[in-house]
Amino acid sequence: MSIFQGSEASQPHIALFPSAGMGHLTPFLRLASMLLSHNCMVTLLTTKSTVSAAESTYISFFLSTNPEIKHIEFQVPPMQPSNTTADDPFFIQFKATSRSAHLIYPLISSLSPPLSAIFSDLVVASGVSKVAVYLGIPNYAVSTTSAKFLSLLAYLPILTSDAAKLSNRSTDIEIPGLTPLPISSIPPPFFNPDHLFTATLVSNAIALPDCKGILMNTFDCFEPETLSAINNKRALRNLPPILPIGPLETYELKKDLGQYLPWLNSQPAESVVFVSFGSRTAMTKDQIKELRHGLEKSEYRFLWILKTKTVDKDDTEDLEDLLSCSFLERTKNKGMVLKEWVNQQDILAHPAVGGFVNHCGWNSVMEAAQRGIPMLAWPQHGDQRANAEVLEKAGLGIWDRTWGWGGQRLVKTDEIQKRISELMTDVKLKSRAKKVGEEARKATGNGGSSIKTIMEVIESLKQNN
Ligand code: UDP
Ligand code: UDP
Ligand code: UDP
Repeated sequence: MSIFQGSEASQPHIALFPSAGMGHLTPFLRLASMLLSHNCMVTLLTTKSTVSAAESTYISFFLSTNPEIKHIEFQVPPMQPSNTTADDPFFIQFKATSRSAHLIYPLISSLSPPLSAIFSDLVVASGVSKVAVYLGIPNYAVSTTSAKFLSLLAYLPILTSDAAKLSNRSTDIEIPGLTPLPISSIPPPFFNPDHLFTATLVSNAIALPDCKGILMNTFDCFEPETLSAINNKRALRNLPPILPIGPLETYELKKDLGQYLPWLNSQPAESVVFVSFGSRTAMTKDQIKELRHGLEKSEYRFLWILKTKTVDKDDTEDLEDLLSCSFLERTKNKGMVLKEWVNQQDILAHPAVGGFVNHCGWNSVMEAAQRGIPMLAWPQHGDQRANAEVLEKAGLGIWDRTWGWGGQRLVKTDEIQKRISELMTDVKLKSRAKKVGEEARKATGNGGSSIKTIMEVIESLKQNN
């Protein structure tokens, strides 16, 4: 008989282990918040120093507003400087965390009450699965991307096993049982199996079959074909169940004192184009210039969040040095350009926002889906072209494939102007996007598919306690 009485006996205790970057931390904190609301105990494992300032700010704020969460900081042994093929600080941190993930064992093995499960980032699946076996508990992988891109990740060990074959490839990637992925949507690093990013993902993708399930920030109606092909064992049969639990509900953030809020409050409904490329996508100065001309020529109101460095702490250049003073003066009543962190989830929920120009980071896609905001997809790297395909097919947005990957070519003023006008005027697009919003809210509302899925996971953990 259990030594715990009453509610503790059936209260699952779950350790959450995100990897680097806001795109990974954010869904984990939302998941933590959801688990707390379903009466679970949560332990959050984070690395001792984070790559971005935003990550440490968000972790501190989240812990201060949820003091019941136990926090364990994990010292990741640093990587030796080497001649790696990638110098992106986030990729280096993925690799450092991935190869040290098994070191969490002593930190979590004597927790009281003992853990019922670990929910860990896909990039640490390999190390954490071994720890979970020692502890005799399930490890659920948490995927921070689309089911479409996850299917590519799961197939990556096979795809990269013959490097020569992949690098000479010009045809679509056919994963048996799934719709082929255009070769142009495969992230360029995947053509090099030695690339830090590729090697880290392959070593963890191999361990996916050892996970109890894969929790995904997506929902049934958004990616029905991929989800059903995998879950009905028509594709990637070695994978555990894919568990769509999204769009993950946002939690209340620190009050945003940004100057843009009073401005947004005074704009007409659905009149503003919100332009943002996530937490870590820098744009070249030439591309910034074209974008500013495109925005100005489109004549729509805009709120533009500008980033010129991968890591926020390095982004020190003044706005006036990036954009001309005359542009800022000419557009001061029409738009706002900011070089700061904003509460994107709140901006997307604001009635003045009518369209979203975005790089298709998966969290951003899910946030737009939740609010039914039409998107102009401008994927830049990684999973973003695969994600763009998904949102276009689901009816949430438009995508001009000729724009290429970020930096592949300069997308010109007139192309940008034309697509922004389309985004803001296409009535059918607006109504399809609203429909997506309704479906998203249905999935996470009472009796919805995503809520049922997470409740089943929690129930199964209670049974095993
Ligand atoms: N975000 C934000 N404010 C910013 C930039 C980003 O709140 O100024 C949030 C955004 O809402 C999303 C996350 O940071 O939840 C970024 O994740 P996403 O997957 O969209 O893109 P990534 O940054 O990983 O490329
Ligand atoms: N402009 C344009 N296409 C271009 C370059 C400029 O439409 O390729 C327009 C732009 O919208 C602005 C004007 O020309 O109205 C002047 O732009 P520029 O960047 O030369 O000057 P600034 O914005 O610094 O005043
Ligand atoms: N990825 C992951 N965990 C990581 C790093 C990458 O699961 O720690 C996967 C994930 O699917 C992610 C994709 O690789 O969305 C592309 O990663 P990238 O860093 O290019 O994009 P981001 O995570 O910023 O959206």
